[in-house]
Amino acid sequence: MSNEYVKRKVALKDMNPCMICSKPATTVLFNQTLKDLIYTCDIHLIENPGFVVPIHSQEYNSTVAELQRVKLQLKVQASNGSGSWDTWVNKIFTKRNSSKDSENSDDTKKDETPTPVKEDQDKLPAIDYQSEYNKLLDKMTELQMKVRNFKLNDNMFQHRLQTKKAQQIAIAKRKKEEANYSNTKPEELEKVFSFPTVPSNDPNKKGQ
Ligand SMILES: [Zn+2]
Repeated sequence: MSNEYVKRKVALKDMNPCMICSKPATTVLFNQTLKDLIYTCDIHLIENPGFVVPIHSQEYNSTVAELQRVKLQLKVQASNGSGSWDTWVNKIFTKRNSSKDSENSDDTKKDETPTPVKEDQDKLPAIDYQSEYNKLLDKMTELQMKVRNFKLNDNMFQHRLQTKKAQQIAIAKRKKEEANYSNTKPEELEKVFSFPTVPSNDPNKKGQ
């Protein structure tokens, strides 16, 4: 029995009470190996490890790793100033102004037009990391919304397993009893069934 549930949608006519809050739900988690169904609102599936943990795709995991890397780069850049983002930005502006001054003092006045290009080049690394970070964050959120597979909280899964087992035993028992009823002549029922806790005259009544 594997603890893997797939999220599915059911039609409105098939909705059932949510296991968590009892509101009508059209989302169901289905476990193929256990033949288990859990109706739930979508909201309970988000950041709720007491209930479920999402099983993420490889793409999601690599996006998160990339996000961490870019975040670190942003931090490193910021701390290259005197610690804060503002001083880091100021440093870039100061640097740019001084480079402009040195160009202006040059005798080659013809080259005045390329100056804005140089400014952009100076600015590029900082903006790239920030926009890359935002892009990755969007992608991560999008992949989070797409998750279809979930792992049930361990304790809850054990409980589902036990409940299923008990149900199966009860069903098997009932089938056996039904088979006995249909295969056995009423007068033989007394012999087949024994009701140790029931007074001896009761089984006769049951057989009729
Ligand atoms: Zn609910």
